[in-house]
Amino acid sequence: MKTLCVLGSTGSIGVSTLDVISRHPNDYRVIALTANKNVDAFYQQCLQHHPKYAVMVDADAATDLQSRLSLSSIDDIQVLSGPEALVKVASLPQVNTVMAAIVGAAGLLPTLAAAKGGHTVLLANKEALVMSGTLLMQAITDNNAVLLPIDSEHNAIFQSMPAGYKIGQQAHGVRRILLTASGGPFRTLPIDQLESVTPEQAIAHPNWDMGRKISVDSATMMNKGLELIEASLLFSIPAKSIQIVIHPQSVIHSMVDYDDGSVLAQLGNPDMRTPIAHSLAWPKRIDSGVEPLDIFQVKTLDFEQPDEVRFPCLRLAVDAAEQGGTRPTVLNAGNEVAVEAFLDSKILFTDIPRVIEQCLVEVEQSIPNNLEAILNVDHQAREAAKEFIKHLMH
Ligand code: NAD
Ligand code: MG
Repeated sequence: MKTLCVLGSTGSIGVSTLDVISRHPNDYRVIALTANKNVDAFYQQCLQHHPKYAVMVDADAATDLQSRLSLSSIDDIQVLSGPEALVKVASLPQVNTVMAAIVGAAGLLPTLAAAKGGHTVLLANKEALVMSGTLLMQAITDNNAVLLPIDSEHNAIFQSMPAGYKIGQQAHGVRRILLTASGGPFRTLPIDQLESVTPEQAIAHPNWDMGRKISVDSATMMNKGLELIEASLLFSIPAKSIQIVIHPQSVIHSMVDYDDGSVLAQLGNPDMRTPIAHSLAWPKRIDSGVEPLDIFQVKTLDFEQPDEVRFPCLRLAVDAAEQGGTRPTVLNAGNEVAVEAFLDSKILFTDIPRVIEQCLVEVEQSIPNNLEAILNVDHQAREAAKEFIKHLMH
């Protein structure tokens, strides 16, 4: 029996995770659910999955949830609030598997706590890994925890690795990783129109249904930049051995190119329940609810070179990956602040890379060797981004 804590259960990944779990009630038991402040959705999840712990980070939302549960005469779900409660439920001894599906830096501490608890960590929250770099990977190793990648590309790469391969190791005989990208909603939009795209246009992804932040990241292609850094850490491979490939159909989810000329890929419909089910059941296979791939309907698979002029975020991320140290932390923090400002209509779509570049110029490069140093750099970059955004708004 797998006992689960789902961090970010009301999000796109969280909902898909609960969907897969509910298809296998005898194999999975939900011990803890967490969300930020969406009480309506969270209350329904509590009714359906009946966790022992329910965390709403927002204190008012937690009070609201508590009163709704009391009115329904449910008194055996412990309601907690605050970021420290996330850490508590991610490290519970009665949990063996943690789905890390909070968006952004807010997921770092609970994900680290899950690693320190020696749990199996199903990692969707790529920002936590990008900002903390080798620190999270080291916590996994030091505590005999297991990390399994949920991001569809990294899950595909993991599935295409040699038998017995363990995340974090260098794989034998691998020449390159081919990291596929859909190219997002603006792949073919005339470049001079990028400046005037709206948040609504940016979050309307052609192939994947995702949260708002990652949808904007897909539109700027920063998502692929973050994923390149993620892949470099998960598979111990230098950034220069990872080739980004635009593949608009999103049917191949990434490939591994071996020294002998073999290229292995994982294919499937673009539905996150496949990598989620793969990681939940690993090394077994279970039904995920995803439709079988109709290869005849797909017909063609196209591949293109990425365009760094159209997508300046790609170059910024590749540079940060190659330079290492605090660069990925700064890149991630600047991006989070910039995306939020764009979603709030404070800056233009094309300002996003400008904000990030400014952070990379302003925050001094260093080699962080502990959590405190990382959180400090993250804070500095956020301040630099907010200050620059004030100028852009004038
Ligand atoms: P989402 O916005 O749909 O959901 C985010 C979840 O995190 C929600 O449950 C929300 O309540 C919670 N949350 C938000 N802010 C929080 C905070 N400050 N403290 C605690 N909880 C907070 O996001 P999503 O699309 O499900 O993505 C989640 C993560 O998975 C992201 O890191 C994303 O990059 C990654 N990911 C998502 C997809 C996808 O298809 N959606 C694919 C690959 C990777
Ligand atoms: Mg992905």
